[in-house]
Amino acid sequence: MSSGQRVVIVGGGVVGAASAYYLRKAGKEVTILDKGLFGKGCSHGNCGYISPSHVLPLCKPGAITKTLKSMFDNNSAFYLRPRVDFKLWAWLLKFARYCNEADMLATGRALNAILQSSSSEYHRLFESSELTNAEWDTTGMLFVFATQKMYDEYALTNDLLTKDFGVPATPLNGKQLVEVEPTLKEGLAGAFKYQIDSHLRPSALMAAWKRKLLELGVQIHENTEVTDFIHEDGQTKAARTPAGDHTADQFVLAAGSWTPLIGKALGYEPPIQPGKGYSITMPRPKLCPKHGMILEEYHVAITPFETGYRIGSTMEFAGYDSTLNRQRLGLLRRGASEYLIDPFAEPVEEEWFGWRPMSCDGKPIIDRVPRYSNTYVAAGHSMLGVSQAPGTGKLLSELMTGSKPHIDPTPFRAGRF
Ligand SMILES: Cc1cc2nc3c(=O)[nH]c(=O)nc-3n(C[C@H](O)[C@H](O)[C@H](O)COP(=O)(O)OP(=O)(O)OC[C@H]3O[C@@H](n4cnc5c(N)ncnc54)[C@H](O)[C@@H]3O)c2cc1C
Repeated sequence: MSSGQRVVIVGGGVVGAASAYYLRKAGKEVTILDKGLFGKGCSHGNCGYISPSHVLPLCKPGAITKTLKSMFDNNSAFYLRPRVDFKLWAWLLKFARYCNEADMLATGRALNAILQSSSSEYHRLFESSELTNAEWDTTGMLFVFATQKMYDEYALTNDLLTKDFGVPATPLNGKQLVEVEPTLKEGLAGAFKYQIDSHLRPSALMAAWKRKLLELGVQIHENTEVTDFIHEDGQTKAARTPAGDHTADQFVLAAGSWTPLIGKALGYEPPIQPGKGYSITMPRPKLCPKHGMILEEYHVAITPFETGYRIGSTMEFAGYDSTLNRQRLGLLRRGASEYLIDPFAEPVEEEWFGWRPMSCDGKPIIDRVPRYSNTYVAAGHSMLGVSQAPGTGKLLSELMTGSKPHIDPTPFRAGRF
């Protein structure tokens, strides 16, 4: 393999892993550097949904009034800890600019393309056993509504997703819902079932990626933080770590919510904020749901794994705060108890938080950085990094090898903000 083929990827999350896979398949010699352990960032304790149904971004008409009002309330699913943080306020102002119908639909089209691409890649990867033992489950996902008002409102969104994006759901009334998912309480308004969605166990997915990448000869260096880059003639020459410099021909920044921090060394600080979410993992309850479910009024997600069960979600903007907010964990339990007959099991295996890499327009950045011609970024996947990772890796590899992109890369440009 020629030395012109060497790629260093900063970040061993689901995005770095998928990027490494497609780059290696394209003939590159790939090294991943992670400041912690591979797969232990946001890609570890998330809800594990692969959700082509999640086409519409958080920034939509009305989001500012609806979401921001509730954000200062620590009991709300969305919470903004009041504090002076100029980067966060600048991010919110940018976010507000995208909260209109035209941008929402344009973002939806871009997300639809990358979500569909990723979904079909996951099918290929699992069905051909490229990836194994990730507890992949194709039963489908339920968006569950306790109140008729929210159910009826969502019916309009379902029409839009069906007609404009080709992502239909099966509507279920309250009676049909308990037939399909008898672990739910009686008396709920209903649900929309997305057969196209699937779920898996995120830690098992990351273990599967690691096995595959090592088998393909990808080098993975853990506990190796990139602190700087060395540049020469408009190109990056090396990634600097405390253990020494890693030279390469091309570089990828896939550092999730940390991307703006290390991006500084590349003169590129994209508007990505850490959107803190929580999860609680436990054994499967006796009455364990068959479906992945979003309990819509509480924005709480339920994921039944083959080997366990997870309640997750909530969104907290508190910077890079690493404390476990017990009130937020309590919200997850409260939401699950409202809808499920048997919402928990003991003992709790893990209480976890992760920082979602929230881009201000809801789209990831998959592009070359403006200043250095051999250096790329794949970050900002917000609430959908697992769902978008294979499409991201595939597109990135096409851009880096000069092949024809399989989806339009324009919406994911680095310089769009
Ligand atoms: C509660 C919760 C539930 C979620 N549920 C879902 C879901 O169901 N479906 C879905 O699609 N998405 C979900 N997400 C979002 C998803 O988890 C993220 O979008 C995704 O994990 C981001 O992946 P990543 O590889 O970009 O970042 P990460 O997984 O965070 O990886 C980034 C890596 O970069 C490393 N790094 C950072 N800086 C440096 C440096 N300077 N040097 C070396 N290494 C560095 C970190 O150590 C880390 O390992 C959820 C998130 C949360 C919090």
